[in-house]
Parts: sequence; C-alpha cells; structure tokens
Amino acid sequence: MAFDQQGPRPSFKGNWACSKCGAKITELPFDPDPARLDQLLCRDCHRETRANRPFRGGRSRY
Ligand SMILES: [Zn+2]
Repeated sequence: MAFDQQGPRPSFKGNWACSKCGAKITELPFDPDPARLDQLLCRDCHRETRANRPFRGGRSRY
C-alpha cells in the first residue's frame, strides 16, 4: 500500500509567515495561493478570524 491516509488531509510544507502575528508557518492543510502568500494566517489567527466573523459562513446577502 503506497498510501496510509486516514483522511483527505494533505499537508503542504513550506516556509511562510503569518500575516497577523508573524508566526512561522511551515505546514498548511491546503496549497497556498501564491498571490495570497501575504495573507496567510497561522492556525491560531485563522481560528480567531473565523470566530470573529460576523457571519457564520455560507450566508451571503445579495
Ligand atoms: Zn498568527
């Protein structure tokens, strides 16, 4: 068996920095968009950002 994955969670290794707190990011659960590398957030900041969102995602008003 070539792969022994427990789920669809590939991780991408790299050398980035959090745009908010400046923490080092060496691994991401997604392939970062090169155009948005300066908007990356570390796990902590990402969680905070999500928690502080006024909308609980998925509901857009147009
Ligand atoms: Zn951060």
